[in-house]
Amino acid sequence: MGKVSIGLRGWRFDEDDVFTDAGGWRPLEEIPKEPRHRLVRLQVVMNKPCDACYLIHGEENKRQCRVASIVYGEPLDEVLLCDEHEADFLYWFRERGGSSIAGEETFRDAFHEWFDDGGRAPDGYGGMEHVEEAPEELPDLRDPEDLYEDDDLLADERPDFEDGEGNDDGDDADGDEDDAEGGDDDFDLDLDREYPT
Ligand SMILES: [Zn+2]
Repeated sequence: MGKVSIGLRGWRFDEDDVFTDAGGWRPLEEIPKEPRHRLVRLQVVMNKPCDACYLIHGEENKRQCRVASIVYGEPLDEVLLCDEHEADFLYWFRERGGSSIAGEETFRDAFHEWFDDGGRAPDGYGGMEHVEEAPEELPDLRDPEDLYEDDDLLADERPDFEDGEGNDDGDDADGDEDDAEGGDDDFDLDLDREYPT
């Protein structure tokens, strides 16, 4: 059974879980829960700034952030990284206790704190071999909200680049758009309440 990354590197999927024998996407409801959650969460986290870049540049200078190309961690508690910062994350994960809290609610915050305190990988620290044959396109999910008991997966609390044009939901009835773009600068603290209990 082959493994692939989809959209972003890091999260890996069993091909049999997500593709039919003919090579098409399985219907979402046929995909096992864990990969399904990741797949849905990818809809939100693609094309977002790298967490580490965002910690450096902040909301005011977020245009200087690189777009994330790698995702680690659990859906809603995921860490997004660019190529430059992946080594820092892997160093924290392997050498600074990150792996011991994998899957816990404190996972992302702990990495953010370490990085924000100046934690970095030593020069030349080795990265990770990634699978190459990653499809760049996500499946075209039809109304994933209808399938989801857990709306939080689609919660878009992440900072976004200004020029994203895909956000024009117009008269979307959920009314959350202002909150998402609004004034809460505290990225870390704001995320806390999104964690499942
Ligand atoms: Zn970065």
